[in-house]
Amino acid sequence: MMGTLTGKTAVVTGSTSGIGLAYARAFASAGANIVLNGMGAPADIEKERASIEVDFKVKAVHSPADMTKPGEIAEMIALGEKTFGSVDVLVNNAGIQFVSPIEEFPPEKWDAIIAINLSSAFHGIRAVVPGMKKRGWGRIINTASAHSLVASPFKAAYVSAKHGIAGLTKTVALELATFKITCNCISPGYVWTPLVEKQIPDTMKARNLTKEQVIRDVLLAAQPTKEFVTSEQVAALALFLCGDDAAQITGANLSIDGGWTAE
Ligand code: NAD
Repeated sequence: MMGTLTGKTAVVTGSTSGIGLAYARAFASAGANIVLNGMGAPADIEKERASIEVDFKVKAVHSPADMTKPGEIAEMIALGEKTFGSVDVLVNNAGIQFVSPIEEFPPEKWDAIIAINLSSAFHGIRAVVPGMKKRGWGRIINTASAHSLVASPFKAAYVSAKHGIAGLTKTVALELATFKITCNCISPGYVWTPLVEKQIPDTMKARNLTKEQVIRDVLLAAQPTKEFVTSEQVAALALFLCGDDAAQITGANLSIDGGWTAE
């Protein structure tokens, strides 16, 4: 069966877990071959890779590129081009979080968050654009966050990186506007993934709250719907952005946040 992305290739950074894995599976369901990327136990990564191939009858490879290393990011794009002939969709999604008061924020955590959550997108886009221009089609999607639009205390590096990615998205969209290449960012509210689960202990400490209080009074307090967003909902929006109906959506920052940033 022909899907929206049959014959195309998608590279999704940080796709061994959470939202990234949901993007990869959604694109594969639409017929794309997939370059997975991210950390994890080799056996777990192989299980996810193989299940994409079995479930959707496409091909998938894993690139171990570390998103703090520009050279490895370029190699990841080259792997996609070499293995499948093109990279048509790039999703910059890898991300980490660290929660701390500013005066105690470890400088090395700041550097890592800026590198993984922001600079990696610059390096990936730089590497993928020549091929997209040559073929006259491309979709670049950046996972931003509600924190690309509003701040929360104790997340200095993350909020800075996400505001940065929103600016990068707009700039790239303008540069590529006449090449049939769109660049957008998606800004989820809280999605229940390992990234959110892992920040709960530090938030408990920073705000002196229990786990239940963090979930109710910090996380879901921000979301008028009082529900988490799902990874699948975010992935469905990304897949829409890959279709012809989204050809005129570029430079947008699309919120999917249960009303958080409407307040
Ligand atoms: P996650 O922890 O489940 O997944 C993060 C992925 O990034 C993993 O595959 C991990 O291996 C990968 N990664 C981390 N460091 C890496 C590195 N140096 N090199 C390569 N890969 C690396 O997190 P998630 O919640 O799915 O987050 C995905 C994206 O969504 C992030 O950019 C995050 O900021 C954003 N986001 C998440 C939420 C949320 O509530 N979960 C909300 C808004 C935005």
